[in-house]
Parts: sequence; structure tokens; C-alpha cells
Amino acid sequence: MSEVILIPYSRPELAENSFLSLDLEGTINQAIDEYLRREERPLVVGVYYPSMISYCLRRLFYLYTSPPKPVSSEKLRIFHAGNIIHSFIKEVLEKSEKIELLHNEGEFAIIIDDIQIRGRYDDMILLRGFKEPIVIEVKSIKSFRKWDRERKEHVDVELPYSEHVNQLMIYLYAMRCRYGAIVYVEKPTLQIKVCPVVFDRDRLDMLIDRVKQLHEFIITKTLPPAEAKQNESMRWQCYVACEFREHCDRCENKNNMKKGEGVSF
Ligand code: SF4
Repeated sequence: MSEVILIPYSRPELAENSFLSLDLEGTINQAIDEYLRREERPLVVGVYYPSMISYCLRRLFYLYTSPPKPVSSEKLRIFHAGNIIHSFIKEVLEKSEKIELLHNEGEFAIIIDDIQIRGRYDDMILLRGFKEPIVIEVKSIKSFRKWDRERKEHVDVELPYSEHVNQLMIYLYAMRCRYGAIVYVEKPTLQIKVCPVVFDRDRLDMLIDRVKQLHEFIITKTLPPAEAKQNESMRWQCYVACEFREHCDRCENKNNMKKGEGVSF
């Protein structure tokens, strides 16, 4: 039997003032911000990314043509939380006996004339009993349920999101794969939902045209239409994802733009 060590209880010494006055939280927060800022990539005209393709064209135009705005610390942390979830899924795939992890975080560039679409897919796997490789895109999500204001009850979130399917479509093309899957991970519970995606040439062509269109707007300095404002299914971007809202509203008023019309800057 191991010996029990008896430790007499005594009140801990009062911590020294110099320790208590340290700004530990501030210092660690600053260290996190500095760490995450190292991962930021500057945007270069002519180089576009699959994750941005479904965003409002006008917002993308502003991102490429305005002086760079630092991404907020809050956004950087949310992105990184997604990376952490992906690392977890990668570890799971590596250890599985039914799955072979062929590649992880593979980088590619698709060249179209003077444009490059650069990207990095999450994982490529082989599933036992299925011969073709499957490209996996991992997305973290707050909850699989959301509050429906009209029905006044919680309902299932409709998955997959079309912007994620678009992103994966580019990866499938780049990797010459027919099959892919978006693995949604609910952050607080680590529950998953998997949405299979099959390569669709028409959808890919539409996405490539969209990138070309964006490039044309940028190099000709032509302000694209306020796409998200004009499109019901994209309007959330104006409130959740757009740092140029005030600027966009001002341009709208100044130019008195008609729906779908481009305006010279
Ligand atoms: S406010 Fe909306 S329409 Fe205007 S640039 Fe931002 S996302 Fe696009």
C-alpha cells in the first residue's frame, strides 16, 4: 500500500502585489492576436480564393481595391476555432481503421489566363469498400438548430450552405475528384452532420465566370452592383460579414444606382 502523505493545512500567503498587478489576461490576449495575425495573407489582384467566391461581388471589390483593413481580433479567433476543429477531425481520420487519409491541407492553384484561383482543401480520404477518393471540407457551426421567428420554435438549420458547396466544387475540380463531402461539426457538442457533394460541371463553370467577372470589375475599376442588398438569400452578408456597409450605402446614394447596374468609380 502506498504511503499517504499528510500535509498540514495553513492559510496561503497573500499573493504579492506585484503578481496581482500583472495584466496576465491582457498579455495572453495580445499573444493570441499576434499569433493569429501571422497567418493573415494580403490580397493580390488576380489571385482569388474558393472560400470567397460566394461573397457579395461589391464587398470583394472593396476588399481588393481599398487600403487593407486589419481583420478584427474577434473574426480571427472565430476562423482559428474552425482550424482547431479541423485538426481534431484530421486526427480522427488518421486513426480510423475504416478510412485512409490520403492527403491533408493540400494546396493548389488553378490558372485561367491572367487569373489564379488558389486554395487549400482540408482532407482527401479513401473509404474502405469505395474505390474513389473523397475530398472532405470541414466546417464548424454554432448549432444545428436555430430559432424560427415566424414559427416561434427551434428548427433544423438547412445544410449544406451553398457557399460551402461552391468552395468544395472548386476543390473537386482542382483535385480531379468526383466526390466530396462537407463535414459540419457542432462546436459545443462535437456532433457532426455530413453532406455529400458530387462534382457538377455547370456549377463549376458558373463559379469560374463569377471569378472572371470579379477580376474584370477590379481591373477596370468598375463598382459592381450591391449584390447582397439586391438578393434575398445573400442579404445576411450586409449585416454579418461586411465591413464596408456605410461606404456601400454612401456609394448607393451618391450614384443613385439602379438594380444590377455597375458604376464607374
Ligand atoms: S453592404 Fe451588402 S451589398 Fe454592400 S458591399 Fe457590403 S455585402 Fe455587398
